[in-house]
Amino acid sequence: MIDLRSDTVTQPCKGMKSAMMSASVGDDVYGEDPTVAILQQKLAEMTDMEEGLFFPSGTQSNLVALLSHCQRGDEYIVGQNAHTYKYEGGGAAVLGSIQPQPIEHASDGTLDLAKVRAAIKEDDFHFANTRLLALENTIGGKTISLEYIERAKQLTQDHGIGFHLDGARVFNAAVELDVPVSTITQHFDSVSICLSKGLGTPIGSVLCGSHEMINRARRWRKMVGGGMRQVGILAAAGIYALDNNIARLEEDHNLATYLGEKLTEIEEIELVDGKAHTNILFVTLRSNNYTELGEYASQRGLLFSSGEPIRMVTHRHITKENIDQAVNILKGFFA
Ligand SMILES: *Cc1c(COP(=O)(O)O)cnc(C)c1O
Repeated sequence: MIDLRSDTVTQPCKGMKSAMMSASVGDDVYGEDPTVAILQQKLAEMTDMEEGLFFPSGTQSNLVALLSHCQRGDEYIVGQNAHTYKYEGGGAAVLGSIQPQPIEHASDGTLDLAKVRAAIKEDDFHFANTRLLALENTIGGKTISLEYIERAKQLTQDHGIGFHLDGARVFNAAVELDVPVSTITQHFDSVSICLSKGLGTPIGSVLCGSHEMINRARRWRKMVGGGMRQVGILAAAGIYALDNNIARLEEDHNLATYLGEKLTEIEEIELVDGKAHTNILFVTLRSNNYTELGEYASQRGLLFSSGEPIRMVTHRHITKENIDQAVNILKGFFA
């Protein structure tokens, strides 16, 4: 199988499994798991934040971040296609009574700061209280520039609102920009990072922020059922990933670019934006036969996310040979 559906489909490698096997553990609800403590500390340092908190999923980590920044009746400004708005079951609204204020994305994935400014409500009892701006980096694979982040930060400071980053794939952004991840994250009040995407762990996200924010987050995490026990076994996978799997994300990016280049050989396929962004490539079909292509490809061992556009994602298990094979399967369909 050549599985390009997502970078979440990876299997833990031997080294990761043996790190998990030999992890020292304790009851993390009592704050007694030494391996969880190491992981949280490590990511707090890497992101230039005061403290980290381990979560089973990025959805829960983002939810708890929103609950920690906003109260019932508050509002957060977010991109129309952002994960926290579109792909998390409406959790902020359902579980937090936090009103999302979505904004259309510009073509580079950013939110026009004039639109953000216009969406920030003045203090008037007719309005929800605007409390937070949430960005995502990478978004749809696109890396948000440091220059933009600095301007967005300035805006949040001018209006006294919080600034959260859904950094599920922020290490992909750091590798693409060739900077330490803190160069990106230092501008935010909090960041949620997934270990189970390109970094290749079976599970886990870490929310980083100030001591004060993480104290609030710990209470919310308990409330939504994310307080876990001897999870050093899982945190060990995260530590292994941070030590071994960051620099190699560049290989995923190069292979996604290579895939994009090869696909330009197929007339019926059109690349969204003309190329891949980090490890993600979107394509549309001039021939419009999405369902047929998806069936043809999966029968031949090639999987991708079969929406319109189609999404293809590279990860640890994808080789250059796999990309060549994938392109041949696609060529076969159109021939
Ligand atoms: C995957 C993802 C999440 C959520 O992670 P889960 O662990 O799947 O809950 C959040 N934000 C973005 C941008 C993601 O890609």
